[in-house]
Amino acid sequence: MDIKSQIFAEVDYTKSGKQFGRLEVPTSTNSAGWANQYLPICVVKNGEGPTALIFGGNHGDEYEGPVTLMNLARWLDPAAIQGRVILVPMLNRPAVAAGTRLSALDGRNMNRSYYSQYTEVQVNESITATIAHYVTQALIPLADLVIDIHSGGRSMHFLPSVNMHEVSNKAQLRAMIAAGQAWQTPYLFIYQDIAGEGLLPSYCERLGKVTLGTELGGASQFGVEMLGIAERGIKNVLRQAKILVDRPFTAPAQPGQVVIADKREDYVMAPVSGIYEPFLELGDAVEMGQPLGQIHSIEQPFGEPVPVLARAHGILFVRRAFPLTQQGECVAVTVRPYSLV
Ligand SMILES: [Zn+2]
Repeated sequence: MDIKSQIFAEVDYTKSGKQFGRLEVPTSTNSAGWANQYLPICVVKNGEGPTALIFGGNHGDEYEGPVTLMNLARWLDPAAIQGRVILVPMLNRPAVAAGTRLSALDGRNMNRSYYSQYTEVQVNESITATIAHYVTQALIPLADLVIDIHSGGRSMHFLPSVNMHEVSNKAQLRAMIAAGQAWQTPYLFIYQDIAGEGLLPSYCERLGKVTLGTELGGASQFGVEMLGIAERGIKNVLRQAKILVDRPFTAPAQPGQVVIADKREDYVMAPVSGIYEPFLELGDAVEMGQPLGQIHSIEQPFGEPVPVLARAHGILFVRRAFPLTQQGECVAVTVRPYSLV
């Protein structure tokens, strides 16, 4: 592979069997003038077939992906693979190690760093861009199926869902919904980018690849149930893609509900800063204009709290997790049922 990148891959993507290795990312810091960041990578290949490329830890404070993929890497048996699986459990390892959403080394958002072109300066000025550039040049071209595991992290709490954009290619959207249903989450969530561009899933969707994101809960914690959804789901998606052939794929008895938040009004931002007090639980029905919660001022504690009103009908799909909130930060998302016509 002739890739112009400073990243050195210990693994050979064309080799059969199972390889554990690392991507060595050059960096230079106050504590070490010459250093490498090591991103773990696992490649499992057997015979001919499609390639699944699976990321965790794109955001550092979302640990469902790293745990699921580290377990999966140990569990996968090359004899049960027809094709190839590439696992990157901690894409933004500096953030995973720091427990932060953004990179602890350059403050950048790994999930806002995916573009079709990069200048030499952009690739080299931040470790986040160096990694993202390698992913676009060396890994994504290998993939037929791309999965990027997220959750709400510290700030948000989601109903467990597989997510995607409403891509204009209906055949692609149909294939993504079918792959998403194999995960067997209660919901499939079609969302919009309301907080910047350059997302890894958006980049892959534009290339026409079957691409799945997830939002598996959040609120800085997970339990047995959520990790079970993650582990069972990803195996079933690999079976549906005929890459994991340890047992036949079985479609879910009850498909997840497909929901959409495609209007600006679906995304409710805090009108003022303060402490957000929710009035509803996730999954509750919402009427437009209904109070979703209220924000208490720290500076004026006995003044009337500022109400936060729903701006659309639907169900409450996302809620602010960490109560302290700044003006303009998302405190709720409402969704409506969606059907593909
Ligand atoms: Zn995330």
